[in-house]
Amino acid sequence: RNFNDAGLHPIVLENVKKCGYETPTPIQAYTIPAVLKGRDVIATAQTGSGKTAAFMIPVLSKLMGKAKKLAAPRPNVAKGWDPATDRVRAEPLVLVVCPTRELCCQIFDEARRLCYRSMLRPACIYGGGPVRDQKEELMKGCDILIATPGRLKDFMTDPRLLVLSRLRFTIIDEADEMLHDDWEEEMTTIMSGADANMDAQHQYLLFSATFDKNMRRVAKKFLSQDHVRI
Ligand code: AMP
Repeated sequence: RNFNDAGLHPIVLENVKKCGYETPTPIQAYTIPAVLKGRDVIATAQTGSGKTAAFMIPVLSKLMGKAKKLAAPRPNVAKGWDPATDRVRAEPLVLVVCPTRELCCQIFDEARRLCYRSMLRPACIYGGGPVRDQKEELMKGCDILIATPGRLKDFMTDPRLLVLSRLRFTIIDEADEMLHDDWEEEMTTIMSGADANMDAQHQYLLFSATFDKNMRRVAKKFLSQDHVRI
């Protein structure tokens, strides 16, 4: 298996190669086709397995749409202009929630490399970071938001800053860590929020190092019945 025949958007494929990725890791080989087919996914994957690219590659590729129909790269970019205030706010299409600042920055870094020339704009918000700078970033508009749960919950309460009504993908990374760290309440708020705005197009992707009864419960509660387990 290789990336060339995975059915990826050419710009995403180009970025994958620029990252130096030649063959998909096992988690990527299973996750990429499942996400492209529109399935919800729950995957058991350790750090270092290539799990970030496993969700980022197919998600970006789907957002970029069918290349053949488009003369130039013009994805469904969330401009985020709010007519009520005549200002831009963040209306992301993709939300990635993860437990730590370090992970948040790593995912952002990878997203930035894979978004090159895509017109999709990633942003990240995390606890312990400068609130004002992060707000300013969001008010430039963003398509892919990578966040830790506490900061996300704070920013979610201000619709002039961030609205989650356009989400097409909700991704929870290191879901088991979030449950252990007592983020369950935040996770439920975040996932139910996405749920309320969910249409047939919305996909949940859950990544976790372990698969225990808590994960099974979360999967049962939020994921579609025909989700793929990897
Ligand atoms: P992760 O599991 O997402 O933390 O990724 C671990 C490391 O593997 C990161 O430094 C990635 O840049 C790298 N990586 C991801 N996918 C591939 C691939 N297909 N080939 C080589 N390296 C990769």
